[in-house]
Amino acid sequence: MRDVVVVGAGAAGLAAAQFAAAASADVLLLEGAARVGTKILASGGGRCNVLPSRVDGASFWSHSAPRTMQRVLAAFPLDAARAWFERDLGVALVTEATGKVFPRSNRAADIVHALRGGCDRAGVELRTSWRVDALTPVEGGFEVVRSTGEVVRCRRVVLASGGLALPKSGSDGFGLRAAEALGHSVAATYPALVPLTIDAPDLRALSGIAVPVSLSVHTDGRVVATEPGDLLLTHRGLSGPATLQISRHLTEPDARGRKLRIAWSAADWRAELADGAGGRQLGKTLRNHLPTRLADALLARSGMAAADRIAGIRKPDRIALEALLAEFEPIVTGSEGYKTAEVTGGGVRLDEVAAHDLQSRIVPGLHLCGEVLDATGRLGGYNFLWAWASGKVAGHGAAAARPR
Ligand SMILES: Cc1cc2nc3c(=O)[nH]c(=O)nc-3n(C[C@H](O)[C@H](O)[C@H](O)COP(=O)(O)OP(=O)(O)OC[C@H]3O[C@@H](n4cnc5c(N)ncnc54)[C@H](O)[C@@H]3O)c2cc1C
Repeated sequence: MRDVVVVGAGAAGLAAAQFAAAASADVLLLEGAARVGTKILASGGGRCNVLPSRVDGASFWSHSAPRTMQRVLAAFPLDAARAWFERDLGVALVTEATGKVFPRSNRAADIVHALRGGCDRAGVELRTSWRVDALTPVEGGFEVVRSTGEVVRCRRVVLASGGLALPKSGSDGFGLRAAEALGHSVAATYPALVPLTIDAPDLRALSGIAVPVSLSVHTDGRVVATEPGDLLLTHRGLSGPATLQISRHLTEPDARGRKLRIAWSAADWRAELADGAGGRQLGKTLRNHLPTRLADALLARSGMAAADRIAGIRKPDRIALEALLAEFEPIVTGSEGYKTAEVTGGGVRLDEVAAHDLQSRIVPGLHLCGEVLDATGRLGGYNFLWAWASGKVAGHGAAAARPR
């Protein structure tokens, strides 16, 4: 009988296993894929944005218990998480001007290597290609059943098998299904930090163009969210940091009826279009602030020509053009889904776990951490911070309950 079995060797599982073993538990870490930390390797364009440099009230959200989420995060503050990487795991980190923290080497593989090293030193036994098919509570603990039928018995389980994002990495929702089968409820899941699809062939034809914008989401005349930043046009719609950040307001369960609005560039379009001095041409004015092909596409939509003089535009046309430039509302048809989403919104309800050890209130001995839970962060290292913090709390919690 093992003390602790951790299911899933992603960010949260690697942290949980290490902290449980460092607290003297006998820990077995089971990973379904052939290698560990697949998503870490894919993260940050292969560089791994391992942490943010600051956290505020808008950095994370939960649909079930935001206070529980905050208590878990408070158990592993940013400076402690950073010291864990730099001092305990030996990875030098740098903070970029954007506020994102990366390994100095710019190699995500160094983060995986360091986490594995930490597990090895703490005495974690790792088995890869060990896909868990079922978790069965039994007297004194659990039976963890492999897809081949093999069984491991343990006193405690830490479920760290991720959510639904990037299923090819091995995270296909097993943990959500397993928790539900054991009696947990799941806050409705949705792809978050995800590119959006739009019904605008003229813009999709500009795939590859990046432009600074301000995005906002509206409903019934009320602003739900705003997000300044770069937008990338793709052959399916919209991507880039500003899109990913705001996307959840259009993909979450109560997003019905919400509309996306784009202010193309930070230009004061009203002032620009009011200034017809010196016979200024429309095309030149737009191209001062926008990539040429985008400026031309927007002009084509307006029915005006690049050579038109601003001074000659009739008032209703000017108002329509202002709206096109500062309040453009594309028809958002959906998102690119879990295949390209960075993270899963929703998950196992946080009011069904205890904040101090992330132990299930429904299944004693089961601890949960990482993306399987209903806690999500913004782009910028926040989701890894949740993985490290919740992994630490669940790992310590599982180890503490071990019989002495
Ligand atoms: C392309 C991409 C880039 C990202 N970049 C960043 C970034 O730069 N910064 C940031 O903060 N966040 C980033 N994220 C989000 C971040 O990767 C996740 O929030 C984080 O990895 C979640 O950690 P986790 O351990 O909970 O889940 P996962 O990383 O998904 O790990 C779960 C593990 O469990 C294993 N598993 C699943 N089911 C089973 C089973 N039945 N049996 C055994 N093992 C199983 C999986 O194979 C996987 O290894 C990115 C995500 C993606 C997709």
